[in-house]
Amino acid sequence: MDENIYKNLKAIENELQTFGTSLLPVTKTFSNEYIMAAYSAGYRQFGENRVQELIPKYEELPKDIEWHLIGHLQTNKVKYIAPWIGLIQSVDSEKLLAEINKQAGRYDRKISCLFQVYIATEETKFGWDAHELKKWLVEGNLARYPHVEIKGLMGMASFSEDKNLVRQELRSLKQLFDSINAMAIPGLDLKILSMGMSGDYLIAAEEGSTLVRMGSAIFGHR
Ligand SMILES: *Cc1c(COP(=O)(O)O)cnc(C)c1O
Repeated sequence: MDENIYKNLKAIENELQTFGTSLLPVTKTFSNEYIMAAYSAGYRQFGENRVQELIPKYEELPKDIEWHLIGHLQTNKVKYIAPWIGLIQSVDSEKLLAEINKQAGRYDRKISCLFQVYIATEETKFGWDAHELKKWLVEGNLARYPHVEIKGLMGMASFSEDKNLVRQELRSLKQLFDSINAMAIPGLDLKILSMGMSGDYLIAAEEGSTLVRMGSAIFGHR
């Protein structure tokens, strides 16, 4: 098992190298053994999508791991991860942002976050609408959340065989990323563009992703 994980990681790293895109292994549903195989290969950042699954992994695994929450986060669960979470990629509403800010304040820290933006044509995805996000930022709303540090944007393309559609959606997120940076909002400098999964990571890398989130291509089918 370890050998396969190692091989997969190295092969993907190799492909991403030309684009300067980083790889976040997504470990949801995979046991600690799998995570430790990637840890042994040098990885210290992992993505999980559910708080209930993340907490025991955080408790059992080495403390130099930086955990990313990548799935929808309910406001009532923020308090459980607030003391130690590394990056919340899935900030999909102002209500959630406000709760993260509040909990981070209780622990006298800043929590790093990404805005999750809705780019897919599918209806079930969470996230900010691109236009609303820009408007919200221009209005200066971010200043009300001093315990949150916005590091970038996250998005998910449609689960579609239509590669052109996927590419268009990913491209629209890169355009939003660039246009928000061009707005020069005080205290906001987007560095992380988190887009691309096992099915579309090369397209995402080509379209300017700085971080692909990949599970099955590394660890196998769930
Ligand atoms: C599960 C998940 C991934 C990784 O999916 P794979 O297809 O296994 O690479 C990426 N992003 C999010 C938000 C996920 O929930």
